[in-house]
Amino acid sequence: MIHRKSRDEIKRMRHAGHIVALVHQKMREVIEPGISTKELDDIAYHIIKENRAIPTFLGYAGFPASICASINEQVVHGIPHEDIKVKEGDIISIDVGATYGGMVGDGAWTYPVGKITPEVQRLLNTTEEALFEGIKQMREGNVLDDVSKAIERVANREKLGIVRQYGGHGVGHEMHEEPFLFNYSVGNQLPLKQGYVIAIEPMLNLGGDDVVVAEDEWTVSTTDKKPSAHFEHTVLVTEDEPLIITQLMPQEK
Ligand code: MG
Repeated sequence: MIHRKSRDEIKRMRHAGHIVALVHQKMREVIEPGISTKELDDIAYHIIKENRAIPTFLGYAGFPASICASINEQVVHGIPHEDIKVKEGDIISIDVGATYGGMVGDGAWTYPVGKITPEVQRLLNTTEEALFEGIKQMREGNVLDDVSKAIERVANREKLGIVRQYGGHGVGHEMHEEPFLFNYSVGNQLPLKQGYVIAIEPMLNLGGDDVVVAEDEWTVSTTDKKPSAHFEHTVLVTEDEPLIITQLMPQEK
């Protein structure tokens, strides 16, 4: 069953989403050649704590950090480590969740490290575009498959691989709630209703669709080792325009 969020729940989710956005604002600032993924994790942890929230990922199914940090061919769920440092030309996907007042906000972004190739820039631009095309479909009168189709259309246009095994999800009291959202059309006719909150998160690859999980049982990478990008927002269906939950709230900018 899918939970429609109340005004009070949405208020708390927007606060959680604001904290997620604060983390991303900082990531954009500090990511540069030589920084380790452990340093990024520490920064994120402190921002979340300073804002009286809980790092949702820390301890989730045993995950040992507050962010997932996935570099180049890594798609999602990379574990931060002091020995893992980004270098010029890399891309790094940072995924972070914050729980505030019992409600979760979840958001990811792929950042370039210094100068990247035009081909990789195209991957980033397209994955971000796919996210926003998906968000546009988050309105009453549409069905869940409209979101999937919008993402797939953008990926296909640019001939990018679409990760099949992972996707978006309902979010709120838990990080992963119903429904599951595929990043390609599967024909799900679930009507979208006011109060639904879904984390939309296209994961697109410069190469093929296939991914493999590393021996650490977390890190997901493309099988062909080609770069992968991941952009995610937590989004609310309203009576009007879709509302991005994981953004800075105007009064707190
Ligand atoms: Mg997510």
